[in-house]
Amino acid sequence: MSLADFPRHPLTFGPSPVHPLERLSNHLGGAELWAKREDCNSGLAFGGNKTRKLEYIVPDALAQGADTLVSIGGYQSNHTRQVAAVAARLGMGCRLVQEKWVDWDDPGNDRVGNILLSRIMGADVRLDDAGFDIGIRTSWEDALHEVEAAGGKPYGIPAGASEHRLGGLGFANWAFEVAEQERRLGVFFDTIVVCTVTGSTHAGMIAGFAALQESGDTRPRRILGIDASATLARTRDQVARIARSTAELIDLGRELREEEIQVLEGWAGDLYGIPVDSTIEAIRLSGRLEGMIIDPVYEGKSMAGLIDLVGSGEIGRDSTVLYAHLGGQPALNAYAGIF
Ligand SMILES: *Cc1c(COP(=O)(O)O)cnc(C)c1O
Repeated sequence: MSLADFPRHPLTFGPSPVHPLERLSNHLGGAELWAKREDCNSGLAFGGNKTRKLEYIVPDALAQGADTLVSIGGYQSNHTRQVAAVAARLGMGCRLVQEKWVDWDDPGNDRVGNILLSRIMGADVRLDDAGFDIGIRTSWEDALHEVEAAGGKPYGIPAGASEHRLGGLGFANWAFEVAEQERRLGVFFDTIVVCTVTGSTHAGMIAGFAALQESGDTRPRRILGIDASATLARTRDQVARIARSTAELIDLGRELREEEIQVLEGWAGDLYGIPVDSTIEAIRLSGRLEGMIIDPVYEGKSMAGLIDLVGSGEIGRDSTVLYAHLGGQPALNAYAGIF
C-alpha cells in the first residue's frame, strides 16, 4: 500500500501554515529559518503534533467499533489532551493514565494546562505515580482491561501514539505536504529540525521524505531530530524502529540507511520535562523576536538545538531550514514560576 491508500479521518484544518522567521534568522546571522506550525492547525483544544497522527489511527478505532479511547502520558501530556479532544469530537469516552513523568515542583502541575483541558473535555483522568517511560506500560494495559470489564469497547493508543502500527503515517504525510508548500512558495528546505521523544513524529518524517526521494525529488535533505527525552539510546532505537516499520508500511521499496536516522543530543538536560538554561533562553528569544510561543518540555529544547547548530555552523549560513513547531504551549502554565 502507498501512503495515499491509508484511510485518514480529517481532524485538522488542512495543511499547517509555513512562515519565515525573519528576525530570528537575522539575529543568528545566517541560515534562512522558517517554521511549520502544528500548533496552529486544529480546532481541537489548541492542536499539536498528535492530532495529525490520530487522523490515521481513528479510522482503525472506528472500524473496530470501539467506544472508548484509552491512552497514557505525563501529567502535562499534550498527547493525552489531544486524545481527549478527539474522543469528544467523535462522541467517544476517554480514559487517561497520567503518570508522574516529571518531578516538577509546581502546585499546578496536576491541575492546570493540558490536564485541566482534558478534564474539561470530559476525559476520565487518573493519576499514577510512575516515572518517565516511552514504552508500553502495565498501567495502560490495566486501564484497557478495566474499560472492558465495565462493558466498554476500549481502543488503546500508547504514549505519543508512537508504539502503534499506524503511528508514523501522520508525519510521513507531512513530508508530502511540505513538498507541496515548497512548490507553492518557491523554496527548498535542505534541513528539517524536529523535537523527538516517543519517536513517531521524527520517524514518520524520515520515512515520508525517503518516499518523496524515491518518487523522484532527489535533492538531499537532512531531517535532524533533537532529543528531548534525555534517554537518548531508547529514543534513537524507537525512532529507527518506527521509521523502518513505517517505510515498510508505505512500500518504500528499500531499506532506510543508518545515516538517514539522526537523533542529536545536547539540549535535553538531564531529565525529560525539566528545562535547562538553553531551553529558557530559546523560549524567551522566540517569544521576543517572533511572538512565537514554545514550551519548556519539547520545543524549547529543539529550538535551543537549532540556535546552537546555526551558531556553530553545523547548519550552514546558506542553508534553508524548516523548524517543525509541534505545539505544546498549554504546559507552560505549570512552569510559570520560571518566568
Ligand atoms: C509529543 C510531542 C513532541 C515529541 O513527539 P514524539 O512523536 O513523541 O517524538 C514534541 N513536541 C510536542 C509539543 C509534543 O507534544
